[in-house]
Amino acid sequence: MPQPSVFDMTPETFAAICEANDLPKFLGKQVLDWVYAKGVTDPQAMSNLSKANREKLAEVIDFEQGVLLAEQVATDGTRKLLLGWPDGRTPVRDAGAGIALPIALPIANAEGVPEIPTSRQTECVMIPNPERRTACVSSQIGCPVGCAFCASGIGGLDGNLTTGRIVEQVWRLGQIERSESPEGRVSHVVFMGMGEPLANLGNVTDAIRIINAPWGLGVSARRITISTVGLPAAIRKLCDFELPVTLALSLHAPNDDLRRTIIPWAEYSTVTELLDACDEWFQKTGREITLEYILLGGFNDQPEHAKELAGLAKRLRANVNLIRFNEVKGITFSRPATDDVLHFQKILRDRNVNTHIRASRGRDIAAACGQLRHEKRTVS
Ligand code: SF4
Repeated sequence: MPQPSVFDMTPETFAAICEANDLPKFLGKQVLDWVYAKGVTDPQAMSNLSKANREKLAEVIDFEQGVLLAEQVATDGTRKLLLGWPDGRTPVRDAGAGIALPIALPIANAEGVPEIPTSRQTECVMIPNPERRTACVSSQIGCPVGCAFCASGIGGLDGNLTTGRIVEQVWRLGQIERSESPEGRVSHVVFMGMGEPLANLGNVTDAIRIINAPWGLGVSARRITISTVGLPAAIRKLCDFELPVTLALSLHAPNDDLRRTIIPWAEYSTVTELLDACDEWFQKTGREITLEYILLGGFNDQPEHAKELAGLAKRLRANVNLIRFNEVKGITFSRPATDDVLHFQKILRDRNVNTHIRASRGRDIAAACGQLRHEKRTVS
């Protein structure tokens, strides 16, 4: 049975592990403080723990991080990490102080970069701007949905990310912020990376509890956005989640016929069924949703689409985020013309729908979801 990652742990699960291994209960609090308040994951560096306790902890908890396979920084400051998740772990590394630490066993290639197959790689992105530092994270490896405009779905689903691996993405992006400024921290989290978060709901909600916790990453729940392509049953389940997270529905087309041509899962639920689930979300939580709409040149960016979308948005009292498609190698859609985008926005605004055009961030580093992993795969 693999050890749980330190990023999977909560004070409660830590206490249970300590009790089962004859370790003092306060250890969990100390370790979580090192990880989240001080940014330290090496148990050797946790100087207020005794040597014996550090040794024992290293036997029962995995302190290793995923492997950084690639990092890109765009001219606008957007930073993307490609992380590899080794699955073979063994407790044999001697850390130099007589401590046997669990260690990931990546195989180094000629350049010293570990070889981890794309089936164990995910991406996460830090999007900085003057008011907020947004971490965009993945919930799955690959994606089961396979939207026609998205690189993440090419090749299908390779697996769900564990709670710890979701948390670790936010933690790592936060460490980058911290290295640039001692006050630096992640202020917002969006589940808009690889994967459909509602298809990995248990791990996503467990991760959100840790990301939100005052002892964890301390990100306000309202600043955590789950973006879903739409699973009505899972949206209803999320209504009962105790934290007031934000929900975004990736609609991308205003009617079933158009939607089914770009989102394979649109076969399973109609726009009306999705809107009914979103209505229930609003009635139960009192929180409005956001509609995400990717504009694909000449496909869904015409005035008739905008008028139809306005009707749906008004019914939900939803804001609309328009996203201009970023070109992806191997995907034939094109970026919409600026005039079409502005006209589309005007039609919505003329109908009193609060509409924003989301700034394209990191275009020069393949920052769209799944793009870096896809490009790595297509060149290898
Ligand atoms: S857009 Fe989202 S749901 Fe669609 S394939 Fe990409 S990651 Fe999956």
